Amino acid sequence: MDRYAVFGNPVAHSKSPRIHAAFARQTGQALHYEAILAPTDGFAAAIAAFRAAGGRGANVTVPFKLEACALATRLTPRAQLAGAVNTLQFNGAEVLGDNTDGAGIVRDIVHNLGHPCRACRVLLLGAGGAARGALLPLLDSQPAKLVIANRTVSKAHDLCAAFRPHAGEIAFTASAFEELAGQQFDIVINATSASLAAAAPPLPANIYAPGALAYDMMYGGDTAYLVHARAAGAAQLADGLGMLVEQAAESFALWRGVRPETAPVLAALRAGLDA
Ligand code: NDP
Repeated sequence: MDRYAVFGNPVAHSKSPRIHAAFARQTGQALHYEAILAPTDGFAAAIAAFRAAGGRGANVTVPFKLEACALATRLTPRAQLAGAVNTLQFNGAEVLGDNTDGAGIVRDIVHNLGHPCRACRVLLLGAGGAARGALLPLLDSQPAKLVIANRTVSKAHDLCAAFRPHAGEIAFTASAFEELAGQQFDIVINATSASLAAAAPPLPANIYAPGALAYDMMYGGDTAYLVHARAAGAAQLADGLGMLVEQAAESFALWRGVRPETAPVLAALRAGLDA
């Protein structure tokens, strides 16, 4: 059976084995997918051992996405721009690195949540790896305006400069949180890790336009950011579980050449059932 795995540290909590097992059952693909704990100083060795044992591909999560990028012998354009890899495919001597996180969030927002990005005003909070991965797919979705806001504002400016060539006519700028006062957005995406510390980025009042979607990349129901967004008047709220399932589907499609249906898998995960 073809072998795949997610590598991380920690990784025991990962839902990826359940998601990929469900995709395999649904599409009739014979594969085995497991979670592998790599030592923080032993990612490359863990990947080498997996390849030697016949591994065909891997997902990569915290804290190895940058190392996975360095390890790839070829990068997709979106992985190259993101500077981070969450998907590896082993083709003989070649190690292909891809980043499916950004495509995952855009697909979740547009297809699952029914909120088009085209012509919208989008606010991206954070300038770390997750924000970087989301930027190219977000720009490709043709919003009217895209603002990156970050606590360390210089990082937002750096990201803006790096992705400017892909912005075309989009009003694409960087901002400090306090400079957002007086602006309104149709989609606000929290790509900061503030929710991990039960905190929310300090957004000015009235940031949510009527009908606005507040999206937290972190999953687990009512995150600190979503609680804040609800109180601030956001009309629609979503955590990052859909993004997780969609990025997995994108990886699965790359590996197996078939795109699984995500809706039943997402519904089962939400219900706390085996996907
Ligand atoms: P990074 O460590 O690379 O970046 C963290 C970002 O959060 C930085 O912009 C940092 O700002 C900001 N930040 C941290 N604490 C605060 C705070 N208290 N207030 C305001 N800003 C803060 O993390 P990642 O980009 O890898 O991950 C971000 C989030 O995305 C995590 O919650 C992660 O779980 C989630 N994620 C979800 C995925 C999914 O499939 N659903 C996939 C990938 C990530 P500064 O630059 O000033 O330090």
